Amino acid sequence: MSELPDGVDRRAVAGEERLTTEGEPVYGEPTADGRRVWDAGRSKLGAMLELGMDTRLDGGESVLYLGAASGTTVSHVADFSGPTYAVEFAPRPVRDLVDVAEVRPNLFPLLADARKPREYAGVVEADLDCIVQDVATRGQADVANRNAQFLGEDGLLLAAIKARSENVVADPDAVFEDVRETLSGRYEVLETRRLEPYHDDHLGIVARKR
Ligand code: SAM
Repeated sequence: MSELPDGVDRRAVAGEERLTTEGEPVYGEPTADGRRVWDAGRSKLGAMLELGMDTRLDGGESVLYLGAASGTTVSHVADFSGPTYAVEFAPRPVRDLVDVAEVRPNLFPLLADARKPREYAGVVEADLDCIVQDVATRGQADVANRNAQFLGEDGLLLAAIKARSENVVADPDAVFEDVRETLSGRYEVLETRRLEPYHDDHLGIVARKR
């Protein structure tokens, strides 16, 4: 099992070892020893950690999070990271995200389209340590490539790719192969793993900027 980032650990909950982080609860998640239980069934990054993928995160990284929705996962990320820029293009979830950020001074919600990084290039700092991506939209590899500009040297991409968002009828493995190929110009793919049983037909990817 790979090491967890500082700030993430495993605690016993109802006889099971579960991931936890510090911080204010956000989505009705249970707590263990005062820490938030991180539900891998509701979070692709949580599933990547739960499945033992080596995210190379130490904790304290600067993060660009693409596809933040109402903040389920990005709240955990902000609770063990440095500055965390959270991009989401749907106004309704951004309203919830703003509430989540109110008690997290390092979390910056951005109502913007991740396919158009110019919309937030003036706000997001340069040379970030990591992009976390979970946009579940067509062109997921392209979104990752367009945002590589924000990463510093050796910056990491932690992406969850949903096969059905690319092509509802195609074999997921063929979709994932195309995604790997598209990423390979901007990133060196270090590890991939399917996220079952937590998320069907999703691929977790750990990659480093070239
Ligand atoms: N990452 C979230 C979590 O674990 O809490 C769940 C994300 S949900 C699977 C995908 C989100 O990506 C949706 O909220 C959707 O509105 C957003 N999204 C899709 N395409 C986007 C784009 N081009 N720019 C910004 N957000 C996008």
